[in-house]
Amino acid sequence: MHFHSFFIVYLLLQISRFGSLQQHKQGCSSTINSDCNQVESESNNHLQHEKQKYLNPAWQPFLDSISRAEQEYDAVSSKSCYRDLTTDCTLCHDNVIINDLAPFQDAGGISKAMMEAASQIKRITKYQIINHKLYRSENCMFPFRCKGIEYFLKSLLSELPDTEFYLNCRDWPMASRYLSKEPIPVFSFSKTSEYWDIMYPAWTFWEGGPALDIFPTGLGRWDKYITSLTTQANKYPWSKKLDKGFFRGSRTSAERDPLILLSRQNPDIIDAQFTKNQAWRSDKDTLGAQPADEVTLEHHCRYKYLFNYRGVAASFRLKHLFLCGSLVIHVGDEWKEFFYPGLKPWYHYIPLSASATQQQILQTLEFVWENKDTAGKIADRGFNFISEHLKFKDIGCYWRKLLVAYTELLKYPITRDYTLFEI
Ligand code: UDP
Repeated sequence: MHFHSFFIVYLLLQISRFGSLQQHKQGCSSTINSDCNQVESESNNHLQHEKQKYLNPAWQPFLDSISRAEQEYDAVSSKSCYRDLTTDCTLCHDNVIINDLAPFQDAGGISKAMMEAASQIKRITKYQIINHKLYRSENCMFPFRCKGIEYFLKSLLSELPDTEFYLNCRDWPMASRYLSKEPIPVFSFSKTSEYWDIMYPAWTFWEGGPALDIFPTGLGRWDKYITSLTTQANKYPWSKKLDKGFFRGSRTSAERDPLILLSRQNPDIIDAQFTKNQAWRSDKDTLGAQPADEVTLEHHCRYKYLFNYRGVAASFRLKHLFLCGSLVIHVGDEWKEFFYPGLKPWYHYIPLSASATQQQILQTLEFVWENKDTAGKIADRGFNFISEHLKFKDIGCYWRKLLVAYTELLKYPITRDYTLFEI
């Protein structure tokens, strides 16, 4: 063996699991510097190639999970997840409607008594559709959220049957399976398996999302984000993205703490900081640091690795992160929005446990640094899934399919409730 090659092999064998971390720390990834990133990316490609020949055994379980997910996805999901050419709607989320409505189907339908139980939920909003007109109870706890929902309902009125439903526009789901043995029909944007709630597409696909300083009118307009984030994905393709983890968000859940603390120790490899939210009073609420400035979702696209954590419920950010063409590291698997079940862990994103420690987060980052081609492939698949199966049109499709299937379960005739007013 050539001395040069021998030396490289020797060096590679000496790289401990933390080798890549040290390399990152001493390297030039601490600032947004595209020259530096380019040089780093070329030398990383070379190293990557060499390392793959002498695979670090620590990565075998990760690689096994990825190949298993590939086999499973190709065998099962790809057969039910495609676009129906007649309706131009994706079929990828249909199982979510079937699953959410299954308890009501099993109970023989939705009775008046079940609806009565839903009506007792505090600050719930009632909707009716009668003769293709939309009616709502006077009170909506968050008017912008109701507007974000009504945008879709109004656009579908000509296709919808007479119906009525109770809608929760708080973050938290309302119908606990522990508190009620009988299913309660209430629509919520996000839930865990502990709730009967029926998931609907969140208001934030149109308007009513959190009003951050950078989005004074609230996070929304998925149609516009599809364009602006895809543009950023093209501007910062995988090879040009900074080789660094990134997260910005408020402390809506303490599950986010290990990531922020890890970043404070290793700012060169991961930039994760807490921003203010409405509840912020002092820097105690941001774990002892001044709140960071908010960062646009488009800016996130400059980074290769983007973290998603639950907030109070699911975080609205997830869909946006995929459209950056970055690798999504999705933490926790309890909280869902309607489109989450179509995404497969290890195939569209890298999953991490909600209780992941700093060490485990670091290990995941090391894995993706040392397996960049694989990471890039997963990032591409995540991007493709969201671009192809969460088109703006698909939000309307989901609402229509949901309301049609739900209405078929109502066991009583719908009559106009005159306490509601027309929207
Ligand atoms: N967000 C953002 N830039 C920031 C902070 C937050 O774009 O600097 C977005 C974030 O991606 C999410 C929303 O604002 O979609 C609310 O973020 P937060 O962390 O406050 O709450 P979450 O809903 O994630 O629990």
